[in-house]
Amino acid sequence: MSQRQLAMVMDLNKCIGCQTCTVACKTQWTNRNGREYMYWNNVETYPGSGYPKKWMELGGGFDTAGDLQLGVVPNIASDYGVPWDYNFEGLAKGEQLKPDVTPTWGPNWDEDEGAGNFPNDNYFFYIPRICNHCSNPGCLSACPRDAIFKRDQDGVVLVDLDRCQGYRYCIAGCPYKKIYFNPKISKSEKCILCFPRIEKGLPPACAQQCVGRIRFVGFLDDEDGQVYKLVTKYKVALPLRSDYGTVPNVYYVPPTEAPPKFDAHGKIIEGSTRVPMEELEKLFGKEVHAAAKTLKDEMKKRKETGESELMDLLIAYKHDDMFRLDSGYYADYAKSHSLEPIKIVDERYINGKFTKEMKFFAPKGGHA
Ligand code: SF4
Ligand code: SF4
Repeated sequence: MSQRQLAMVMDLNKCIGCQTCTVACKTQWTNRNGREYMYWNNVETYPGSGYPKKWMELGGGFDTAGDLQLGVVPNIASDYGVPWDYNFEGLAKGEQLKPDVTPTWGPNWDEDEGAGNFPNDNYFFYIPRICNHCSNPGCLSACPRDAIFKRDQDGVVLVDLDRCQGYRYCIAGCPYKKIYFNPKISKSEKCILCFPRIEKGLPPACAQQCVGRIRFVGFLDDEDGQVYKLVTKYKVALPLRSDYGTVPNVYYVPPTEAPPKFDAHGKIIEGSTRVPMEELEKLFGKEVHAAAKTLKDEMKKRKETGESELMDLLIAYKHDDMFRLDSGYYADYAKSHSLEPIKIVDERYINGKFTKEMKFFAPKGGHA
């Protein structure tokens, strides 16, 4: 456990699946140097396979006795998908536009597919996912090199690349599959919650850029903060798959505000919920029922009286209503603990003795 814990809340009723967050993260951190296949932030369609493929079935986390369960390390080519590019130069020579590999899988391969029958009860929703910066991280427990650490000042979970030897136990131990192997430098890497931005009082890039304004960032113990109010006061923000036992610190407002279902004659079934509550229970636990009731009650109150602190919070009028970060806190902490700034990892290992050419990404079937 850390002294304090930063957390993110994502309101799934507002996510439009635009992937702006994904692009913000990718351009900031993972478009180079062996990270091309990684999505530290991804937005997947539920129900769907997710990213990596069927991650909820790959194991990791802790059993009810608190024992670590090592799961599977996904295959880069078949479970994440080899990144591909297009022959844009060839277009000028009259070639047909085509990918430079034969794609077989990738993030959002099954985007927007959903379940049910159109138009009666079909549904899907988006789940944006980053590392949960867990309070009991499976990745950290699984690492035999003690290369993963959780910062005392904010609970951010980071990999010490000087210690990491690329054994990949962390990937097997993380039930969310949110830590990745970099085949170019033979080390594991993951979301760093944009700590260089956070220390300057700025939110992570995914949260800053979010078009739907669904993301709130702040400390869990900050009682005046939006995160505290959504998680602790109103209890409408819940962790994803808390049954994995890692105590995640990303919370979700469940997607309860979908249109009602239609009967066989196309009439509205009053009081029906298009997104099945049993699916939401699988993701967010039994607490989802109380959260859904609170959301409905507060929405009704807002309609009838014009007042609701919760609805105002969720509307998120301004960035000030979404982020509670303080560069002064970090500066004071660093001074009082004589901390050196953590080096950004980008270039440190790229020309090292373990650096490899990215033959790993050469497709088995040759070029398309
Ligand atoms: S989500 Fe996975 S990678 Fe992130 S802290 Fe938790 S166990 Fe580690
Ligand atoms: S930017 Fe926001 S609204 Fe768009 S996909 Fe990401 S989380 Fe959803």
